[in-house]
Amino acid sequence: MPSEMIHVDHKLPEQIGTLLMKLSEHGYEAYVVGGAVRDILIGKTPEDYDVATSAMPEEVISVFGEKHCHPTGIAHGTVTVVVEGVPVEVTTFRVDGDYMDSRHPEHVSFTRSLEEDIKRRDFTINALALSAEGTVIDYCGGVKDLRSRLLRTVGDPEERFAEDALRILRGLRFSSEHGFRIEKETARAMLDRKESLSDLSVERIWKEFSKLICGTYCASVMRRFFDIFTVFLPEITPMKGFEQHNPHHIYDVWEHTLAAMTYVPQTLILRAAVLFHDIGKPQCFEIGEDGIGHFRGHPKVSAAMADEILRRLKADNETRETVVLLVKAHDVPLDPVMKSVRRRLAQYGEERVRLLLEVKRADISAHSAKSAYRLSELSRFESLLDQAIRDQLCFSYSSMDINGKDLIDLGIPSGVRLGSIKKQLLNEIIEGTLKNDKTALLQRAQALWENCQ
Ligand code: ATP
Ligand code: MG
Repeated sequence: MPSEMIHVDHKLPEQIGTLLMKLSEHGYEAYVVGGAVRDILIGKTPEDYDVATSAMPEEVISVFGEKHCHPTGIAHGTVTVVVEGVPVEVTTFRVDGDYMDSRHPEHVSFTRSLEEDIKRRDFTINALALSAEGTVIDYCGGVKDLRSRLLRTVGDPEERFAEDALRILRGLRFSSEHGFRIEKETARAMLDRKESLSDLSVERIWKEFSKLICGTYCASVMRRFFDIFTVFLPEITPMKGFEQHNPHHIYDVWEHTLAAMTYVPQTLILRAAVLFHDIGKPQCFEIGEDGIGHFRGHPKVSAAMADEILRRLKADNETRETVVLLVKAHDVPLDPVMKSVRRRLAQYGEERVRLLLEVKRADISAHSAKSAYRLSELSRFESLLDQAIRDQLCFSYSSMDINGKDLIDLGIPSGVRLGSIKKQLLNEIIEGTLKNDKTALLQRAQALWENCQ
């Protein structure tokens, strides 16, 4: 018998309700399971709903008809059923066979027992089922743990992490996202078994780690479980305890990084950029004659390291390239004058300038309190940036009031010279010495062309 059955007043989306009812009308048990139940109980709207059922995959197909079913993961018992246009994953109750090499069960077998299916799940807070009528079925004490915000494995933590090492990272991810405390034995087993993370594919690691660093509580998780992260990010090891010997810094490199992470918005690109922005500092350290610590060239070194790490973890190219650019640029000055705003816009484009502002804001906020004036400079830069965008100032070829054809019509042959004249015109617009106006641009182009003949 479940240890607890409580009722929740939560209206499931109509399609999910319909799906559960239909299976039940055919004599099968069916529940919403896993993360969605956890989210409902903590008052968060689930992003997706997984359904588990006592029906075998072919029985699910026969209830809903082949037309509405896609055998997306049939070997694992998953059929995607399309209900009123919405795809829902329906998985037959399962028990996992023995695990090999900390990652894959040897085989899975189906069962008609909800209890068995629930007990194979990773954490008690994820080991919950919800019926169409709103009854929560709890075999593992997950409701109580959720109430006290405690993360605990289902059963023996050593064994559960030995079966699948990804659970270590999943657990840390849940703690980072929701602020769950980690139960003592679970935490100990996570640390004890950290080396087994090397058995996992980098894709699985990166998927969990990217969610983890976006969590509200990521700094405290990364501080406490630092050693675990060094298994797949050995480059962070020298950051911890690395004193900066600089009056602007009240923290060592690692603590500064963690503080900066809490100041930056919770998106993957920004969080990763801040995590890596100073990773190259330990190797660039020098004490100057003034007795102050300097880290010359560290943005470039950090950017190269971030590039290597993100390639190794197989992050997508767009994420990697943007993160690397932000790390490299994190120390460039953003002077609060329009000329500088235009230059940066020309150099990076609006989206990346805005991201850079966030990285710099977080970085400066995690310096000593003396850096407050630098924050106000950033705010002034941002206001000018807003103004530049509102006024549709020109900072790229595409927004110039002439195009290549206009220059060819002036008699400039297309080729290298035309390219350099265009570049010169854009530079002068950005520097504010030339108006972005067709007549002015044509006149100036003519003069430049005459000059180079
Ligand atoms: P999210 O809200 O991020 O989707 P989730 O808990 O729903 O979190 P999923 O990967 O969608 O995560 O997994 C759904 C459910 O399947 C989990 O709640 C858990 O019950 C079970 N599960 C997922 N991965 C594992 C695993 N590695 N070991 C055991 N059970 C797992
Ligand atoms: Mg989920």
